[in-house]
Amino acid sequence: MMDWEKVFATRASRMKASEIRELLKLLEQPDIISFAGGIPDVNLFPKAEVAEAYAEVLSGAQGDAALQYSVSEGYKPLRDWIVGEMSRIGITCKAENVFITSGSQQLLDYLGKLFLSKNDTALVTWPTYMGALGAFNAYEPNYDKLIPLSNREPQTYIDQASEKGGQVKFAYCVPEFHNPTGVTMTRAEREWLLDLAEKIDIPVIEDAAYQSLRYEGESVPPILALDLARNGNDIEKTRTFYCGTFSKTLAPGLRIGWVVANSDVVRKLVLIKQAADLHSSTINQMVIGKVAERLYDEQIAKIRKTYGHRRKKMLEAMDRHMPAGVDWTRPEGGMFVWVTLPEGMDGASLLAQSLKSERVAFVPGKAFFADGSGANTIRLSFSCATDTMIEDGIARLGRLIAAQKKA
Ligand code: PMP
Repeated sequence: MMDWEKVFATRASRMKASEIRELLKLLEQPDIISFAGGIPDVNLFPKAEVAEAYAEVLSGAQGDAALQYSVSEGYKPLRDWIVGEMSRIGITCKAENVFITSGSQQLLDYLGKLFLSKNDTALVTWPTYMGALGAFNAYEPNYDKLIPLSNREPQTYIDQASEKGGQVKFAYCVPEFHNPTGVTMTRAEREWLLDLAEKIDIPVIEDAAYQSLRYEGESVPPILALDLARNGNDIEKTRTFYCGTFSKTLAPGLRIGWVVANSDVVRKLVLIKQAADLHSSTINQMVIGKVAERLYDEQIAKIRKTYGHRRKKMLEAMDRHMPAGVDWTRPEGGMFVWVTLPEGMDGASLLAQSLKSERVAFVPGKAFFADGSGANTIRLSFSCATDTMIEDGIARLGRLIAAQKKA
């Protein structure tokens, strides 16, 4: 028998199966009410329009090119469309600032590859998107805690990183409808982050996966827009990477995301892509481009209406069914409600019990914390839940938590 551990690189020791991936299997069991997967509702996918776009691309003048290798930067008409879209949210850029990736997940990997040497430090919120931790972990970094508006001395980030044998390389955040907390960073928090990044001279990774999924409240300018405002609207002087994706709006299966940043670093990322997978799927970029041009706004309006309704239903059900001692966030958009259980209650044990007696699934919060803390938290997703699932599922969960409190 081959001794695999002996031949694995040291980075492999940090590669662990995600609890979410395992849980997604449960979605296939019909009697489970799942608030686990943070995925879009398949009923909202623009299937007919995607089918039509594939047919058009293949039978049209671009048919051959669609199936051919293409440039690593991405399909130019799609990059041009993104430039226009970005200008609507206060981000002025050119096509040379836009780079297409296979979902924003690939970009997180590339940013890790570009910036993190072993033992360098990444600043992340506590909790943070576990997929980002997974992507960065391959580069063997340390993590330090980003607490917006905290008055921690900037120099302490540098000192702590150098004690651990590296440098602070970037701050990563999900400013809109955070995964897993659902919380949105205020403008003051974004400015604070840019101040910190300027003081310690690091880039900011703005993961905007949920940016267009707002159901109520006022939108806040993207961090890149604020960075541009500080730099005379010259993107070449900015330090922020705006990471976008079509996964939450059109379809994650097409695997198309993008980054907007200064062109020097974009060129570097393009080199990484050349070495990694040459380019994102040519035909999928063309199809996304066509579909986006035709129905992006309409599609977003549809999603907002559906998820906005489910968010409201979930919050109402939480108000009705959660016992005292449980706290939760009230997100203005996105897909998630983040729950803090009574002190000492463990999210993972609660899940095991819930699957057994209540048939309700959710994600224990611990995996979202870089230091493995947060055992008494759970993430609930409302994106795929019907009204009845929400009412029944939250009632059952509330009952279980109340019973565990007494036990
Ligand atoms: N960032 C965040 C915050 C996410 O929640 C996700 C998907 N769960 C991603 C990035 C990755 O999305 P994709 O690769 O499909 O664009």
